[in-house]
Amino acid sequence: MRNASPSTNVPLQLRDAVAAALALEPAIFGRAGAVDAAAAYPAADIAGLSGAGLLGACLPAAFGGVGLGHGAESADVLREVLRTIGRASLTVGRLYEGHVNALRLARHSPAALALLADEIAAGRISGVWNAERGEGLRAERIAGGWRLTGHKIHCSGSGAVRRPLVTARIGEQGPLMMLPEVGGERVDLSVWRAAGMRGTATGTVDFTGLVVPDAAVIGEPGDYYRSPGFSGGAWRVLAVQLGGLDRIMALHVERLGVRGGGDPVMRARLARAGAAHEAARLSVREAGRRAEGEGEPAAIDAYVDLARGGFEELALACIEATRRNVGLGSFIAPDPLDRALRDLETYLRQPFLDASRDNAAGWLLGHGGCFA
Ligand SMILES: Cc1cc2nc3c(=O)[nH]c(=O)nc-3n(C[C@H](O)[C@H](O)[C@H](O)COP(=O)(O)OP(=O)(O)OC[C@H]3O[C@@H](n4cnc5c(N)ncnc54)[C@H](O)[C@@H]3O)c2cc1C
Repeated sequence: MRNASPSTNVPLQLRDAVAAALALEPAIFGRAGAVDAAAAYPAADIAGLSGAGLLGACLPAAFGGVGLGHGAESADVLREVLRTIGRASLTVGRLYEGHVNALRLARHSPAALALLADEIAAGRISGVWNAERGEGLRAERIAGGWRLTGHKIHCSGSGAVRRPLVTARIGEQGPLMMLPEVGGERVDLSVWRAAGMRGTATGTVDFTGLVVPDAAVIGEPGDYYRSPGFSGGAWRVLAVQLGGLDRIMALHVERLGVRGGGDPVMRARLARAGAAHEAARLSVREAGRRAEGEGEPAAIDAYVDLARGGFEELALACIEATRRNVGLGSFIAPDPLDRALRDLETYLRQPFLDASRDNAAGWLLGHGGCFA
């Protein structure tokens, strides 16, 4: 399925990006139940983001954007945009975060940015497809470009994203980033029968035989994993997930309100959930500011790694308290709380969480146990 194609991208100032996301929040939340029930790609929501200028805002100024997601000055704005969209729908937030990530990774390549700007003008998002199984995706050098063999798994937006940023192995060197043009016929969505995040269209994509010209290649082999962009950039996922936690807290409080505020045991659980949410909020804010700042790359990686592990534990504590307080109702569709909980439980499964905790522990061991 393709995105709807509004050519109504409006120019957006950085300072207006949060207001634009807040204006879209009720409509995206209002459609989220139908998206979940049908496991349907949220085309209308992506069209809304496009029309509000939030896809184009991620381009640098030279390409008509405002550099949302490209540095310290936009860190707080980006966090609130990602959080707001995540609060409306984690599915839409996940798709938007992939788009932000692709533009961020392409930021030093004018040719790649031009390709992505064309996608944005057509109302389409991009995304980053890195996950693979077995042999994964390989690229072989040919005249003027690269020929691809293999596939990627867990590709969000597959069938709708036409220019994903993918990583492809070239011999013994680190993977190379490129922007192949991918048609829907290469996508297998039958594999996506998830409990949550059902509308993300997270499929398997076969690239075998596709040719990518040199103009669609980004940077040098290994750039994708360069520090602190790779590990540090994970703070953006936390910002979207924080929006999911906001929604869960709001619905939790609403349900206890219906029960007259609950009994003392329920109120104690609510306080535990609230403390977890607040700790998560502060940690995501600090992680974003550090990751987008000028600090030492190893310290940024370690801080965001610590925040990722901490966020998972805090979110699980918040989910547990909510499910116990609300009871069976929190498991029954079409209650939005059921969806919000399923979505966050699914989205919390992120790569290398144990390894990132281990890296954070290594940093703490070498620095007296604290971050400055
Ligand atoms: C909704 C959603 C959308 C997604 N969209 C995308 C996308 O667009 N692009 C993309 O690239 N990916 C995407 N992903 C996939 C994501 O990047 C991860 O690959 C995936 O979530 C990993 O989850 P996992 O729990 O299977 O992790 P795994 O990495 O398989 O880990 C499972 C467990 O094994 C442990 N483990 C893993 N490796 C080792 C090891 N070597 N030694 C010891 N223990 C190990 C882990 O710590 C964990 O406990 C998406 C995921 C979700 C949930």
